[in-house]
Amino acid sequence: MSRVLIVGAGGVGQVVAHKCAQVPEVFTEIMLASRTREKCDKIAAQLPRAIQTAKLDADNVAETVALIQAFKPDLVLNVALPYQDLHLMDACLETGVHYMDTANYEPLDEAKYEYKWQWAYQERFKEKGLMALMGSGFDPGVTNVFCAHAAKHHFDEIHELDIIDCNAGDHGQAFATNFNPEINIREITQRGRYWERGEWVETDPLSWSMTYDFPEEIGPKKCFLLYHEELESLVMHLKGLKRARFWMTFSEQYLTHLKVLENIGMTRIDEIDYKGQKIAPIQFLKAVLPDPGSLGPLTKGRTCIGCLMKGIKDGKEKTVYVYNICNHEEAYKEVGSQAVSYTTGVPAMIGAMMMLTGKWMEKGVRHMEEFDPDPFMDALNRHGLPWKEVVS
Ligand code: NDP
Repeated sequence: MSRVLIVGAGGVGQVVAHKCAQVPEVFTEIMLASRTREKCDKIAAQLPRAIQTAKLDADNVAETVALIQAFKPDLVLNVALPYQDLHLMDACLETGVHYMDTANYEPLDEAKYEYKWQWAYQERFKEKGLMALMGSGFDPGVTNVFCAHAAKHHFDEIHELDIIDCNAGDHGQAFATNFNPEINIREITQRGRYWERGEWVETDPLSWSMTYDFPEEIGPKKCFLLYHEELESLVMHLKGLKRARFWMTFSEQYLTHLKVLENIGMTRIDEIDYKGQKIAPIQFLKAVLPDPGSLGPLTKGRTCIGCLMKGIKDGKEKTVYVYNICNHEEAYKEVGSQAVSYTTGVPAMIGAMMMLTGKWMEKGVRHMEEFDPDPFMDALNRHGLPWKEVVS
């Protein structure tokens, strides 16, 4: 019996609302709040049971506090944008409510992926007896849990970790991003970074690639090294780790468009003056690109996201690959969103379920790999993201 306030009615919010509505024994009362109320109402109208909706500017802490005091949730589930993380954490502290999100805080004027801003809330959450769960999407999120699962069941020590994210789907558009274009492009155009022998190594953006042969007939695809936020907590929590990297597939067509947009300044995040008005080119670009939500009915194919780990067990070398494959069209049929939103929204619901049922409950700012992976892995199988593992 619990009440959840979902903030953000975008592609991911749509999936989270559907998935929470499917589990009434945990999510007794649901409220969906976002900047644009109509988007909440549109999602609410598709659901099998009634939920409440509200208009909310989550950057306005007083407004969020008032909404929390009126609805009285047990948990705020943040699937708005990373810019809102700290404001929502402030509102949770003020009202004594647990918090979770799917992406780490980013300052609007700097594309920087670090947990330091949210880790700074550690003592305040502990003092209030509250939990803040970081990054309960797929990557970060399920990838952290895959690592915890392998550390618990397969290894004494994991030495090498490669997180490999493949979207082998096709939406037929010349250029579109699968989730919020601004957040997506900021992530991809930053410098690459991986962790080796106790330190971070930087690479030029998209300058390192490898070809990985994905399972179940997805086949070989070119993957590019990126920095991704889950690396920051995983290198702290995985015993014996010597190297950790993150890879993502991109098509030549996507990269060519991105290069042109970068070269002409359309991906800039600083403000420019346009006819007396200040605009950030990347925000203008977001306004003209296809809304990721509109890609749902168009996208065909599958995603495959997994963790490839090498390490030792009982003195012997071992390799384990844990992965999930998600079908875009099946995701759309179930919840009206493509697989990128689906693979984020399902683990967000499961993370909330872990907290609200007390399976994962620890005061402070917490990461997914700090908890027992078993109930989460079990829930993935039951709620639409079955996983497999290959052990050698
Ligand atoms: P969308 O842009 O589709 O949706 C974001 C929603 O947040 C929109 O409905 C938007 O409102 C709302 N919003 C923005 N600002 C505010 C605000 N100040 N107050 C209230 N609501 C606000 O993004 P996605 O659904 O694609 O992504 C949601 C989150 O999921 C992002 O943080 C993203 O980084 C994360 N993500 C995580 C992944 C993972 O695997 N961990 C993978 C993919 C995404 P409006 O519609 O009015 O603009």
